Amino acid sequence: MSGIYPPKEFVKQANFRDPAIYSRAYENWVEFWENFATELEWYEPWEKFLDDSKAPYYRFFVGGKINACYNCVDRHSEMRNKSALIWEGENGESKSLTYYQLYREVNALARGLKELGIERGSRVALYMPNIPEAVVAMLACARIGAIHVFIFEGFSARSAEYRIRDSRAEYLITADGYYRRGKLINLKEKADKAIESYKGIKKVVVVERAGNEIEFDEKRDVLYSDVVERGKVDPEIVDSNHPLFIMYTSGSTAEPKGMVHSTGGYLVHVYATSKLVLDLKPDDIIWTTASLGWITGHSYGVYGPLSVGSTLLLYEGAPDYPEKCRTFEIIEKYGVTIFYTVPTLVRMISGCDPSLYDLSSVRLIGTVGEPIEPETWLWLYKDVGRERVPVVNTWWQTETGGHVISQLPALTPMKPASVGKALPGFEIAIIDDGGKPVKPFEIGHLVIKRPYPGMMLEINGDPRSYIQFYWSKFGKRIYFTADSAFMDEEGHVWVVGRSDDVLNISGHRISLIEIEHTVMGVKEVKEVSAVALPDRVKGSVIGLFVVSENPSEKTGMRIIEEIEQNIGKIAKPGLIVFLPELPKSSGKVIKGAIYDAVVNKKKSEHLSNPEVVESLTKLKASERGIVVL
Ligand code: AMP
Repeated sequence: MSGIYPPKEFVKQANFRDPAIYSRAYENWVEFWENFATELEWYEPWEKFLDDSKAPYYRFFVGGKINACYNCVDRHSEMRNKSALIWEGENGESKSLTYYQLYREVNALARGLKELGIERGSRVALYMPNIPEAVVAMLACARIGAIHVFIFEGFSARSAEYRIRDSRAEYLITADGYYRRGKLINLKEKADKAIESYKGIKKVVVVERAGNEIEFDEKRDVLYSDVVERGKVDPEIVDSNHPLFIMYTSGSTAEPKGMVHSTGGYLVHVYATSKLVLDLKPDDIIWTTASLGWITGHSYGVYGPLSVGSTLLLYEGAPDYPEKCRTFEIIEKYGVTIFYTVPTLVRMISGCDPSLYDLSSVRLIGTVGEPIEPETWLWLYKDVGRERVPVVNTWWQTETGGHVISQLPALTPMKPASVGKALPGFEIAIIDDGGKPVKPFEIGHLVIKRPYPGMMLEINGDPRSYIQFYWSKFGKRIYFTADSAFMDEEGHVWVVGRSDDVLNISGHRISLIEIEHTVMGVKEVKEVSAVALPDRVKGSVIGLFVVSENPSEKTGMRIIEEIEQNIGKIAKPGLIVFLPELPKSSGKVIKGAIYDAVVNKKKSEHLSNPEVVESLTKLKASERGIVVL
């Protein structure tokens, strides 16, 4: 088999070294998963591994009783001398919690939350930065059977409101503020705005992180420090398919969708893949650079590593602030062993010289979230890892809950930029529109052919979309990922990108339709088309092509403001171009013609107004900012 073979020193100590794991998992699929499941603690064993009688509503470990918090905290809490979590604030503060301290903190918060009225099945929104209390809050919810709905702290008040409303959250946990690029962000103010017109929130718990001044509603708000109560709470014994959390993500519509994840199946999936793919062991320190508010933060920033008993490193701020190479400083300072990140971050720090840092503690690097180009992968492998550590490229989605495709670090030869093969226990295919497998190197739809334990249970309150998005194109037994990919003759996969109107920016999913919808809220805008443009650092940026009665810098700034207020800074466009008309054919905007003109300098011949693309071809592909044509 071709590719770069896993480094020998790594292989010697790896969790999984026997290549027969693939065939064994294929032949004894149930046993493969059940073996991992039995390594977790269950109150009652499951009666049935999989109930697929109501496909595509698949249910795993049916009848099993479990608690995620117990598995992540209680069973390791005897380790009084071992860190569960090490935290670094952007301004350099540092704090750590042993497993025993985490156990006590989680219990104390769980008690307090119960006192507030939170119970099994209550929905609790967490609008929190990367601070230890956010991890404690997730686990405290899990402990009492409440369902957490984490909202990325960078989202605007309106984005937060949508998620709070749609999930019918009754409680909100937030913080006064946090630091980002040296600025103190008043999160409480955004949280207040988010629930201004939504009357469903009974209590707001506020963590005092930054000590900034905040508005405090005596009737509704309580300080975190006043909520926690010394003492213990027995973990709530929940059914395997009791929802653990809801995580929102962009689909091909204007509104984000809430993916509901199970407790038992999800935990088995992230526990198994933490060991299989990230090679996690209890003595590891894993730094998952994603915010807790994304699925990566949940699965490999909290639940996976804690279920294995490893130590989490949690960092609050920007990876390149105040020093461009802060990422390497952090790895060196704490002796991080597993570094799991996104290609955008790697590109951001690629100007740093890794040889100036002691990175010898690192024994595995992983990436996720967006395609990685061969040069970036090779820099990680050669310069950062010194050809001493495997660099796994993991493919998965909010919907899948955990890894689906990746190299097994001691077994799969690495091919730069490839995501490796379907993991043992998974079956994927790349097929054409008619459902037939495409030939090697031909691009097709990436699909998953077998259910797996971590898959979402449903979309919150929206059964129609669940079926329509994922289970309509190829039927109720083949999951449509909306990604395009190709495979080589050895089964290694390269993911090309999304086949729908969703864009991956810095590893975050953003719907182009959601952006267009928002921009149409600016009164000077008559028409807009959002197009993903390639970008050297971020992978892609948003290009907005706008028809306006007032094409100007000022209108451009209004558009940016509208996006930041409605969605958040992550959706800020890289380029705004005002033009007299959008390229059309039979009345429909042709996005491909815009892309071809700007990026490939090609003029589409099939337009009803071909003259409009002429001026677009003159724009530099790297042009950024606001341009009036
Ligand atoms: P999210 O649900 O936010 O994690 O985004 C999932 C999407 O990110 C996938 O559908 C892919 O488009 C993309 N993605 C995730 N991992 C990778 C990867 N390793 N390589 C390429 N694209 C990826």
